[in-house]
Amino acid sequence: MSRRVEPIEGTLDLDVDLPGSKSLTNRALVVAGLADGVSVLHNLGLSDDTRAMIGALEAFGVKVELDGTTVTVHGTGGALRRPDQPIDANMSGTTARFVAPMLLCSGGGSLTAHPQMLGRPMGPLLDAMRSLGGLVEGDALPIEVGSVGTIGDQVTIPADVSSQFISGLMLVAPALPNGLELTLDGTVVSRPYIEMTRSVMQRFGATVEWSGPNVLRVAARGYVGTEYTVEPDASTASYPLAAAAIVGGRVRVRGLGSDSAQGDVGFADVLRRMGADVRVGPDHIEVRGSGTLQAIDVDLGPMSDTAPTFAALAARADGTSSVTGIGFIRTTKESDRLAASVTELNRLGVQATIHDDGFTVVGGPHHHAEVETYEDHRMAMSMALLGLVDTPVTVLDPGCVAKTFPGYFDMLDQLRATARSEPLVLAIDGPAGSGKSTVAAMVADRLRLPHLDTGAMYRSVALAVLRSGVGIDNDAAVTTVAENAVIHVGSVVTIDGEDVTEDIRTPEVTSSVSPVAAIAGVRRVLAARQRDWAIDRGAAVVEGRDIGSAVFPGATMKIYLTASVEERARRRAAQTGATDLEDMKRRIAQRDEIDSNREHDPLTIADDAEVIDSTGVEIDDVVDTIVTRWMALTDAANGIGGTP
Ligand code: C5P
Repeated sequence: MSRRVEPIEGTLDLDVDLPGSKSLTNRALVVAGLADGVSVLHNLGLSDDTRAMIGALEAFGVKVELDGTTVTVHGTGGALRRPDQPIDANMSGTTARFVAPMLLCSGGGSLTAHPQMLGRPMGPLLDAMRSLGGLVEGDALPIEVGSVGTIGDQVTIPADVSSQFISGLMLVAPALPNGLELTLDGTVVSRPYIEMTRSVMQRFGATVEWSGPNVLRVAARGYVGTEYTVEPDASTASYPLAAAAIVGGRVRVRGLGSDSAQGDVGFADVLRRMGADVRVGPDHIEVRGSGTLQAIDVDLGPMSDTAPTFAALAARADGTSSVTGIGFIRTTKESDRLAASVTELNRLGVQATIHDDGFTVVGGPHHHAEVETYEDHRMAMSMALLGLVDTPVTVLDPGCVAKTFPGYFDMLDQLRATARSEPLVLAIDGPAGSGKSTVAAMVADRLRLPHLDTGAMYRSVALAVLRSGVGIDNDAAVTTVAENAVIHVGSVVTIDGEDVTEDIRTPEVTSSVSPVAAIAGVRRVLAARQRDWAIDRGAAVVEGRDIGSAVFPGATMKIYLTASVEERARRRAAQTGATDLEDMKRRIAQRDEIDSNREHDPLTIADDAEVIDSTGVEIDDVVDTIVTRWMALTDAANGIGGTP
């Protein structure tokens, strides 16, 4: 079986609901099984892993009623029955590692798994169980726990192997007679997972405190049954969010946000660093991408499940990206995801190399290939993303996504079905005083197209910044002002509803606007709004400095309008009533200098732009030239553009 993933035309625009987190689901199931009373868990992440865990609970004598993605668990108050058959963890790492310590509460029993799981490391966990008084046979699965004597209340466990061992011990701790003090030995990998375990335990009434930097104290007070909705899986959220970043457009994941205890929500920051516009609310994450990303270096240790997603993104980024901090995933996950990511990127023609604790990817186009998925859902979902842009990708054994997200390919289809067409954009860029605004307004009028003056947007942000009192050199604060200001640009310009049409043209604003416009965060926020504005209208004239080069690199037509500095100074002086022409020349040249040399999206002539020098040319002639060319271009395509 294989699945060919085709590129999506247009920009994404979708709110998605994702299956509950498998990690949270399996933690909540254990806790509900050990709790006193009935628990109802909603939005379960149904997968082979969950099913294995439900089977284990039933073997321990816990009554479990599954109805769609809701499950009712009749907790045992910690009194587990000794299973009469070996419990089968199947392919589920969390089930194996959470169930093993539960055998301390059931007076023993045996645990086995799918043959592929049998070699996976369990040693440190089993040693910890032995030190607590369990008679454990075996160093990897299958294991047999014989009778359990007096159970200890202190244990030391290596912290640099897999946090699942620690989570397993934490989860049973409230059901142990004296609770448990866990000392984590060495550098703690995947600390966010430990916090995730802690948050679920606390939701069911347990007391879990850090009593030292590496010491966790869990009280013997048992769990109390409760109603609990499982959050969408944050690692799974990385796929639709990454899709928005590489295809362009907007995707919102509902039910997951800043309140989440899942470490992988941090992937939103990775996307932000790569240049996507990311908005995180308490219960949602939304990414607005332009389809262009910059390469970054990142330590993915705290969110290692997103490493293959990052591999796919890095392949689309501009430059060389490198990942560190994830050497440990080579042996603890479904596949060696370092080797697998690099091998599959290479197969697609993307340069990538593996190193000790990560990999390096040189962004660039891919060619079509059939990618192997190693029975690893995350490999399949990540590599499929690349098929969404430019060139298809064929995913082998696509069914492996069922492990966590059986509806994954349906979601990709839905992204495609709801994608919006790219707008037709007539981009007019150029330096201050080149006549852009006048020309753009006249062209828009003649073509009966809406017109956006993006300079007015930057001026509005500059005004809002001056009014707010934040330092113009405080990038983060200025970006926040930009994010929060509701700007409307038309024949009247407003900020938060107030008419500022005149106020944005004062010399004070004019001299602050270029430094404000040089801030990457400000550009990210405004570029996304400019894109949304044009997408909403379908076709438009958009003027600015970076419209053809950065905001709409695929613009239908690109004009770069310029004129000599003398001519531009004369025009500005006539507009503003200024008399000192030399001073005006100096100011314009200074603004050109900042706009052209800034690091992010500088004023530049796009490769495919037509340069029009308006020095000594009548404005009507410039307008005529542009209108005629646009008509020829768009009439030939589909007739949009009205009559001149
Ligand atoms: O076009 P106008 O002179 O009103 O633009 C004011 C300033 O806004 C420019 O000097 C430039 O710093 C910034 N700008 C920009 N990118 C755009 C439009 C304007 O950086 N697309």
